[in-house]
Amino acid sequence: MFEPSTQLTSLLTAVALKESTAAGMRAMMQREQEFGSPTQASLTGVALDPDGRAYADEVLDAYWSDEQRQQDLLNSGSTDREVIIGSGFHAATYAAVRVLSGYPKPLVLERTDRVGGTFAMTTRPVFYLNSRNRAGSAGLAGDQGTSPNYLPGAPIQAANVSMAEYQTNIDMAFVIRLALAQFADVVPNATVLSVSQGYPGVEMQIEGNAALLAGRIIDARGLGDPNDQDIANGTTILTFAQFMQRMAGMWPLRGARRVAVIGGGDSAKCAVESCLGISPQPFMAAVALDQVDRIDWYAEDLPTTCDQWQADIRGRYQAIGRYLRQDRFGLRRLTVLPRRAQPVALPGAGLINGRTYDLVVVCTGNRETAIDRLGPGDFDDYTTADGTVVARKHYELPALRVGPHARLPFTAQERTDGIADIAANAVSMFRTASQTAALAATLPSVTRD
Ligand SMILES: Cc1cc2nc3c(=O)[nH]c(=O)nc-3n(C[C@H](O)[C@H](O)[C@H](O)COP(=O)(O)OP(=O)(O)OC[C@H]3O[C@@H](n4cnc5c(N)ncnc54)[C@H](O)[C@@H]3O)c2cc1C
Repeated sequence: MFEPSTQLTSLLTAVALKESTAAGMRAMMQREQEFGSPTQASLTGVALDPDGRAYADEVLDAYWSDEQRQQDLLNSGSTDREVIIGSGFHAATYAAVRVLSGYPKPLVLERTDRVGGTFAMTTRPVFYLNSRNRAGSAGLAGDQGTSPNYLPGAPIQAANVSMAEYQTNIDMAFVIRLALAQFADVVPNATVLSVSQGYPGVEMQIEGNAALLAGRIIDARGLGDPNDQDIANGTTILTFAQFMQRMAGMWPLRGARRVAVIGGGDSAKCAVESCLGISPQPFMAAVALDQVDRIDWYAEDLPTTCDQWQADIRGRYQAIGRYLRQDRFGLRRLTVLPRRAQPVALPGAGLINGRTYDLVVVCTGNRETAIDRLGPGDFDDYTTADGTVVARKHYELPALRVGPHARLPFTAQERTDGIADIAANAVSMFRTASQTAALAATLPSVTRD
């Protein structure tokens, strides 16, 4: 077991010193023997106490937002340093396994002001994960003895932070953020624009900053930017991320009686759940004030009836299906319209095929965020000794891609096991975590590249 980092130590001290936040941590120390270390017990106590967790999150953000610390880190580039682009699940996995394998802490650059990636897109809970919360180590989805949300090497696991079968986005975000606080130096608000050969190493151009020298880049940019972000106007037509920001705010569905959701993937399903009131409870929202009466769901490949839904759709999203049937009086809140839709922004409304909506949520997938010289065509397969492709390696630069945007192929075993039957599994953590972990454990030190 590792010693807590300076950042984690000061977090635990801050929580312990505040009477209103220390209760969970203190209580958990009664069961300290059941944990791998006192740090794990304390962090679990913090995570399970809403006041403790909220305060811990604030302490983490305050630490990461310190401008002097950020500048010092951005000035500390060297050819010995590994720099990770992005601060999500894969950045945390790589950093944790790398440090635990005896290598120095990587530097993590995050373009937004919130560290933690996709799951940290909001500070309040807004969507449920689709992978089950189970105790156990890393492993495959169908293996009951393993945890599909396992973050290799993390100070605490998702299974430590709630009992819920499906956890919220911020549960997972907390685990990721603690892992980064332990195993990485993180700079938020640092957008990587381009990279170039550094002779030796690689030079990174960061928006608003001087160039940063790195020995190796780990490109963990994640799922990318919304495909249709150009047609979103931020008011009546929103991307999934914008809609989730709205759901995390005050009375998020005010004035949204007729809503259209476009797209049939997991993001769209989460958006529909929010409109139906079966997502995590939003802050300051009540049906007496704001209820969505009608949701038109434009999705080409989804079942249109309750019976079909129950037969075809996996367990996590079953609850949506019952809204696909009429009530006794012929009213139905949710309708799947199996066709493509292209919304037009009218003043105060979104228009689709002659129908107007108070709100349109566009969930039509993602495209890669552009970084010059780190495009998809610049990378080849990177294989571990057993022949598994675990990452992509740049043809010319010391740079590797990990996580969903590495687009790693399903293995023959994954096809046999049925993992490949669910397209969304391509980006699932249970699948990609072990690949990133294998990379971090086996790459030679930077200076040997
Ligand atoms: C709604 C939703 C629900 C999901 N639910 C599950 C689930 O239940 N189980 C599961 O296994 N998977 C789930 N996934 C998939 C999972 O979120 C992703 O596979 C995983 O988060 C990817 O992690 P990552 O670290 O690669 O990327 P991300 O978490 O996306 O992090 C990438 C980070 O890179 C940053 N970045 C991008 N470009 C730059 C740049 N140029 N400079 C600096 N920083 C940059 C981004 O701002 C972002 O913070 C879900 C995804 C979504 C959208």
